[in-house]
Amino acid sequence: GVTVSDTTISADQTASRPRAVLVTGGNRGIGLAIARSFAEAGDDVVITHRSGTPPEGLRGVICDVTDSESVDRAFTEAEQLLGRSVEVLVANAGITKDTLLMRMSDEDFDAVLDTNLTGAFRCARRAVKGMIRARAGRIILVSSVVGLLGSAGQTNYAASKAGLVGLARSITRELGGRGITANVVAPGFIETEMTEQLSEDLRKTYLSGIPAGRFATAEEVAGAVRFLAGPDAAYISGAVIPVDGGLGMGH
Ligand code: NDP
Repeated sequence: GVTVSDTTISADQTASRPRAVLVTGGNRGIGLAIARSFAEAGDDVVITHRSGTPPEGLRGVICDVTDSESVDRAFTEAEQLLGRSVEVLVANAGITKDTLLMRMSDEDFDAVLDTNLTGAFRCARRAVKGMIRARAGRIILVSSVVGLLGSAGQTNYAASKAGLVGLARSITRELGGRGITANVVAPGFIETEMTEQLSEDLRKTYLSGIPAGRFATAEEVAGAVRFLAGPDAAYISGAVIPVDGGLGMGH
């Protein structure tokens, strides 16, 4: 006979077959690590990139998240490549334009908000079309520890990353009844070319604030994103999952 848990699993359409995943800004950095991680787990992945060709072994569509038409086109092309609508959206594309508040221009503030927050909104709005029809979907927004911790010199960036929390929680309230979850992953310092180039002193200063005593790998961020996209996270929505070694505790 059919047990309750069998019913639950089959009702969650993300459970046992490859998911159709779209990762924005998946051509490099953390987005690339996330895309590779889904692909290695057997999912059907499309990344977005702004120029050039997609990375080796991944399918890509051109997308500028500051342009609604470009986002719409990218989803349509991704859906053609995937053969179905996007089931898992990872809104990862992001930029920084750091400077002190008094010196920050309107342009620097707007550009960061437009990419990091409005860009995620544009992608989520397009993604939920298919998700509502399918009555299933996972939206994962890549924020940052500084969204809730704050960061001197990053008023634009931190405001944009905090905004993603309100976005995910409002999507949850609107669409939580339709099998759609929306969550935020908030990475701390990630081991990248940038952190490798830090002076030993600066590295020590940063590390002294991190209980884990080290930076994270991009793969560790990918692990949290994959968890939120997977069957074990079906009842988690509107959450902020830190991947920061304890740097931002208190979220
Ligand atoms: P990178 O700078 O390495 O990559 C950023 C990605 O976003 C690139 O693929 C870039 O495309 C894309 N992108 C930027 N603007 C746009 C746009 N207008 N339209 C479409 N794509 C765009 O960043 P990271 O990998 O370091 O960061 C990825 C995410 O993680 C960001 O949201 C960032 O804020 C967040 N994060 C990063 C941390 C870190 O320590 N690195 C810590 C916490 C959060 P292109 O290649 O064309 O420029």
